[in-house]
Amino acid sequence: MSRFINQHLAKLAPYVPGEQPTGRTFVKLNTNESPFPPAPGVAKALNRECIERMRLYPDPNCTRLREAAADYYGLSQDEVLPTNGSDEALFFAFQAYASGGRSVYYPDVTYGFYKVYASLLDAKGTAIPLNDAYEIQWKDYFDRDGMIVFANPNAPTGHYINHERIKRILAASPDQVVLVDEAYIDYGGASVIPLIKQYDNLLVVQTFSKSRALAGLRLGFAFGQQPLMEDLKRIQNSINPYSVNGLAQVAGIKSLEDRRYHAECCSAIVHTRERTAQALTKMGVRVLPSMANFLMISAPGLSGRQVYQGLYERGVLVRHFDAPRTRDWVRVTIGSEKDMDAFLAALTEVLAA
Ligand SMILES: *Cc1c(COP(=O)(O)O)cnc(C)c1O
Repeated sequence: MSRFINQHLAKLAPYVPGEQPTGRTFVKLNTNESPFPPAPGVAKALNRECIERMRLYPDPNCTRLREAAADYYGLSQDEVLPTNGSDEALFFAFQAYASGGRSVYYPDVTYGFYKVYASLLDAKGTAIPLNDAYEIQWKDYFDRDGMIVFANPNAPTGHYINHERIKRILAASPDQVVLVDEAYIDYGGASVIPLIKQYDNLLVVQTFSKSRALAGLRLGFAFGQQPLMEDLKRIQNSINPYSVNGLAQVAGIKSLEDRRYHAECCSAIVHTRERTAQALTKMGVRVLPSMANFLMISAPGLSGRQVYQGLYERGVLVRHFDAPRTRDWVRVTIGSEKDMDAFLAALTEVLAA
């Protein structure tokens, strides 16, 4: 850090992304990417013409992508806002509804960015504890005096809460924005997007980085009633009106068009997740029930760090979060069948060592 930096930023603890190794090749199960390629239509669309169009600025309103997404999700176009990854949508929401000393509530074990954005934007962040089974205690989110944010399914736990419970949260804090981060909704959960028409305080965020295999492209979405989308667009237009690049706009449309491919990829992951969870349980490993494309696991007698390290030495990369409640755990992304066989073999060695 230089001596010139703003004092507030000097004190910040930034988000630490999962490793993206460049040298050695790993079985990479640490950042919840898809083992499958993007929909075949994506590669076809990123052609010469598309590259030539790169000399022009992209459409700042993402008109065609918004049309496609509105159609796909059963919303009107003004209820959809594409963003540069869903992290950007989350950032805009924190800026709009929590910045400047206002309160924001999120689970104590959840996506690390919520806490980072709260501190970056000078919001008053409060972490609400999960129960001992690492489940969101949904009633703890009633009657809050600030924005409520949670991932559903939650990360890194995989725990999912149903619509009835989310409706109760929405109704119990009608004057607060309730942000549901659905990064992992496609692996067996049901999106709350249809509830948007009913609740003016519901903000839903999704990403194309996980089930749609476009992490490198940076595309996410915010969904909500038009006034919420206007709030977020005001911020986007005050930072970078072109944050969703032209390639992402084209690829996003193509990804949405191929419903069958997307459904097949998701059900393959769900199938592999269930098989992997069963194998782990048989090995005596504790596995949290997951509705996402990852499993949170704890091996008897080993710290999360030791499991992480043992797997690392055997060429398998997983994620360990070194915080009090996650110290004994590692999060393992569901990859291909072959990836998971390699992971299970490596873990068997680690447990025997
Ligand atoms: C991966 C992830 C995101 C971020 O996705 P991007 O669209 O790649 O920015 C958001 N929320 C959760 C819970 C995630 O795990």
